[in-house]
Amino acid sequence: MDRVECVVIGAGVVGLAIARRLALSGREVIVLEAAEGIGTVTSSRNSEVIHAGIYYKAGSLMARFCVSGKRALYRYCAEHGVPHRNCGKLIVATSGKETDRLQSIRAHAEANGVDDLQLLSGAAARALEPALACEAALLSPSTGIIDSHAYMLALRGDAEDAGAALAFHTPLLRARVKGDRIEIDAGGDAPMTLECSLLVNSAGLSAPEVARKIEGMPQELVPTPYLAKGNYFSCSARAPFSHLIYPVPEPGGLGVHLTLDMAGQARFGPDVEWVDHIDYVVDPARAERFYPAIRKYWPTLPDGALMPSYSGMRPKIVPPSVAVQDFVIQGPRDHGVSGLINLFGIESPGLTSSLAIADHVGELASR
Ligand SMILES: Cc1cc2nc3c(=O)[nH]c(=O)nc-3n(C[C@H](O)[C@H](O)[C@H](O)COP(=O)(O)OP(=O)(O)OC[C@H]3O[C@@H](n4cnc5c(N)ncnc54)[C@H](O)[C@@H]3O)c2cc1C
Repeated sequence: MDRVECVVIGAGVVGLAIARRLALSGREVIVLEAAEGIGTVTSSRNSEVIHAGIYYKAGSLMARFCVSGKRALYRYCAEHGVPHRNCGKLIVATSGKETDRLQSIRAHAEANGVDDLQLLSGAAARALEPALACEAALLSPSTGIIDSHAYMLALRGDAEDAGAALAFHTPLLRARVKGDRIEIDAGGDAPMTLECSLLVNSAGLSAPEVARKIEGMPQELVPTPYLAKGNYFSCSARAPFSHLIYPVPEPGGLGVHLTLDMAGQARFGPDVEWVDHIDYVVDPARAERFYPAIRKYWPTLPDGALMPSYSGMRPKIVPPSVAVQDFVIQGPRDHGVSGLINLFGIESPGLTSSLAIADHVGELASR
């Protein structure tokens, strides 16, 4: 049986950041990935926004890791030449009631350490974005966008330079806890059994399923997975905006917002559609809900401009009746299994938080 110090399950953006962190601290690392390459699942089906950290519950892992992860990510992009743009975002109020909410959003952001939000009048917001309709807005200067694939390639390069190995088409099939070591059966083209002293389960949507396959992991601590699909529409008309545009959030979601990719192409979404299986097809009929929502802040959106684009699945670990979830990162102190770290519910802002999550896992692993 082969022996290796650390095994990371999953080569999404979070698994890659963790592999890099562990390899840079001198540990021997192998990443087992079921798919044919890096970042083929949720890490390539998101908005590619570097979030500021405005809405998350104060003190939550999401709030802490988003704010520290954002700083680390901007630094990393600058140092590694990863394409990104610190374009800023406007949260726009289109009624008197929504205008009143901007102050409380700003206060909430400050509690999370996001202290740079600026309250703008409608006229000041239109000076930045002349096509915008709004009564007032909050400008978030630290929000940005990133080429997430280039970022993942850079993480992979760092990890491999530091000695990490990646095995594709190599799913974890099952594992067994054997004292302070864990034995892993991996399938795929070249099935193998590996023994490690650290197993990091960073399997995204499949993390609960992977944890259930680990004999010796207390099953009552494995959350039930749920899926909340997010659908995107692209826009055939040129959207005349240089900032990301978000409505004041509504219960259950951030509302239909406009984000930009690195080429300046606008997309709208993601919405929230709870589903019971993975199907990435975007139903064109959902556009009917997008038009009125977008026209509140962009009244001249032409008829017929929205086209179904792509979708992603949020790895939920709470049912629709529960409004908020936090990242769950379980180490030996939580489940009693030496050398096992599980990451559950790593939905947005997981991309922004990836370097901070990796640092946290690195610290858990060195205890
Ligand atoms: C619609 C949407 C929009 C989002 N927008 C943003 C955003 O704008 N900004 C932001 O910060 N975050 C955003 N996110 C969140 C972000 O995309 C995720 O948090 C992040 O991609 C999660 O990365 P991951 O590595 O945990 O998971 P994944 O990318 O899903 O990677 C998990 C990997 O594990 C592999 N795997 C699964 N099972 C096994 C197994 N048994 N053996 C081996 N490998 C296995 C999979 O093949 C996959 O490659 C968004 C998410 C969604 C759904």
